[in-house]
Amino acid sequence: MRIEQDLKLGFKDVMIRPKRSTLKSRAEVGLDRDYKFLHSSYKWKGIPIIAANMDTVGTFEMAKVLSAKKVVTAIHKHYSLTEWKTFLDNMPEAHLDYVAVSTGTGLEDSEKLENILKLNSKLKFICIDVANGYSEHFVNFVENVREKFPNKIIIAGNVVTGEMVEELLISGADIVKVGIGPGSVCTTRVKTGVGYPQLSAIIECADAAHGLGGQIISDGGCTTPGDIAKAFGAGADFVMLGGMLAGHDESGGDIVEKNGEKFKHFYGMSSATAMEKHVGGVAEYRASEGKTVEVPYRGAVQDTLQDILGGLRSTCTYVGASRLKELTKRTTFIRVAEQENKVYN
Ligand code: 5GP
Repeated sequence: MRIEQDLKLGFKDVMIRPKRSTLKSRAEVGLDRDYKFLHSSYKWKGIPIIAANMDTVGTFEMAKVLSAKKVVTAIHKHYSLTEWKTFLDNMPEAHLDYVAVSTGTGLEDSEKLENILKLNSKLKFICIDVANGYSEHFVNFVENVREKFPNKIIIAGNVVTGEMVEELLISGADIVKVGIGPGSVCTTRVKTGVGYPQLSAIIECADAAHGLGGQIISDGGCTTPGDIAKAFGAGADFVMLGGMLAGHDESGGDIVEKNGEKFKHFYGMSSATAMEKHVGGVAEYRASEGKTVEVPYRGAVQDTLQDILGGLRSTCTYVGASRLKELTKRTTFIRVAEQENKVYN
């Protein structure tokens, strides 16, 4: 046993220090990024925010709205091939730059992934997603997918440490997804004791990835637009959102009414709810590592997105970044023992 004494930080432990700026208005701030990738030769331009591949977030309805704004949706892996066909028939091809096909690492997953990608060659992003990205099986799977799809943009995760980011990039990933335990409906830290405060995970993993010419996604733990700004400030190339995009019209599922207020269901992808829905229950050897909650119904996701992007533009003006690209360079974090004033919450 060994103890690492360095204190690791989360979003709640820091704020971004304002800096002198020549920007007159947040309208001057560009949130688009242009990316090239480590393995894939595609060039991508867009707003580097990704809707998480969860049942109630990464839906086709979400992708229709977000892709029009150049924001990515990682489509959850539970749609059938027929549903994919219908979706693809109704999407402008240019919008497919903002759609990622998610997959697990099972044999069936791998066949399904191939079949979906065959439907339209304009699908560029593959998101290979497992709760624990530290297994040898996962690394081999990433290698195989890279062999089969030499030019797709491959996302792989989740991990939280630099050495594993490097291993996944070397094994064929273009982008490594970072986050273990910070998610709003995640109970991994409670069930297993395993995790890593997200801000430090981003700083360390971005450093490892950028050294090799790869990128990272900060996945999980953002509860406000300010957290998203902190994730980009810490060096994330993309930020993935679950809870912040749940509860909308595009999230699927029914609206539940209680005492005159409206709610929608939201649940972790390893919650008992998700396992019952997709694999007929929680297997005997495992515990559920996700919560099921009801979140307030929030209408159209477009309004929430506007709020998020407005917040990010404002962060950029506070530190004098005319483009999102400059945010990391212009960020100085201060460690704090307080966040917002909650007197009226
Ligand atoms: P959020 O933005 O809601 O804080 O976090 C979203 C992320 O939580 C997802 O992208 C995924 O990585 C993670 N997640 C989703 N469902 C579960 C779950 O059931 N268990 C765990 N441990 N993590 C989950």
